[in-house]
Parts: sequence; structure tokens; C-alpha cells
Amino acid sequence: MTVFVFEPQPLASVALAGSEQRLPVHRIYCVGRNFVEHAKEMGAEVSRGTPIFFMKPADAIVPGGGDVPYPPGTSDLHHEVELVVALGSGSDAVIALDDALAHVHSYGVGLDLTRRDLQAQAKDKRLPWDIAKGFDCSAPLSALVPVSDCGHDFTRRLWLKVNGKLRQQAPLSDMVFSVADIIHELSRLFALRAGDLIFMGTPAGVAALQRGDSFEAGVDGLVTFSGRITG
Ligand code: MN
Repeated sequence: MTVFVFEPQPLASVALAGSEQRLPVHRIYCVGRNFVEHAKEMGAEVSRGTPIFFMKPADAIVPGGGDVPYPPGTSDLHHEVELVVALGSGSDAVIALDDALAHVHSYGVGLDLTRRDLQAQAKDKRLPWDIAKGFDCSAPLSALVPVSDCGHDFTRRLWLKVNGKLRQQAPLSDMVFSVADIIHELSRLFALRAGDLIFMGTPAGVAALQRGDSFEAGVDGLVTFSGRITG
């Protein structure tokens, strides 16, 4: 038996819709610039060549939403609503495009919360994005819906409302890189594992969240969740 010098931090996990079981989170991979209109609003070009990846710590999730604290160190907290993919199996080898969707366990919706001011500074100075993207509570997300219940349907609409007003929406079919593309590309760089989450990138309409704002996010016919920015 392993004897730890102190009690390990609790394992991050997400509820499965309609189940008592939870999905244990291994890593969180995120895709940048995966919707053309969002890349444009950020002043970037989308290249079909190689996707942009970054990561968040597993314990950055806020499972089920609810109260999300306004983070320190920023005065420009932005929302990015995204499809979340949870893997049910991984591979040490590269995962072929045709095999990729077989590794998906479930789908959900989440927010890739971003300290936009710190991200802009990082871009200017060619510094890493970690402090802009990987902070505590930067990944609120819904319960996950198993593929056995929802299939792989990328015609559905992804949306976000803030204080009841629609801020972002797009069909999942607008994604530049598909879920299969992204699993394949990630597997060329990392040993993917069961419990890995992938935030698939956001459509246009990103904007600031203020303390006290309430949000509701969803994918039509899949799942919704809601919460409030506190602090
Ligand atoms: Mn994002």
C-alpha cells in the first residue's frame, strides 16, 4: 500500500446525466481557434494545418456550474462556451481518424473561462497562456451525457446566455477541426487516457463576465447547465 506523506487532493470528477456514477477527470485539453468567426474576432487567421492546443489542470473544473468565483489578477474575465468531449479509453499509440469516435465516452458543455487581459499580454510578449487559461475554477461544465444516450450528432447548436441574453451560438458543424480530427491530432502529441476532457473551442461572441452575472449554456437536445459569477 502506498503511504503518502499527506492526504492527496481529491480526484476531480463530473456527474453523468441520469446516473449515480461520476467520470474521473484525468487531463483537460483545450482547442484554440476552432470556429472561423471567433478566430476573426480575436484578430487571428484559422489555418487548417495544425490545431492549437493548450491545457487546464483537472481540478480547474466546476462540475455542474453553480457559483463560480471571479478570479483574481484580471479585470477582463471572458466566457467561451464550448462542446466538451470526455474520453472513455485512451491509447499509447496514435489513434486513427476512423477509430477516434470509439474513444468518446460522453459529451457535455462547458465554459473555457479566460483572463483576456492576461492572454493579450501573453500574446504580445510571446509568453505561455497558463495564467490566462489554467486558473482555479476556469472550467465550469455540465453533467456528461454518455454516447449510448446521445450518439455523435454534430448538427446540434451550441449556445450561451448571460443574464438571459444570447451571447454566443453556432452549430457544432461549424467547428474547423472535428472531434475525430482533434482526438487524432492530440494522440500524435500525448498518450490519451480514459477521463481526459477536451474543450473543443468557442464560436464568435466572446465577451466579459461581471460579478453577479448569471449564465446558462447548452447544446440543443443534449444538455444545459447554469451558474453565477460570484465575488
Ligand atoms: Mn476556448
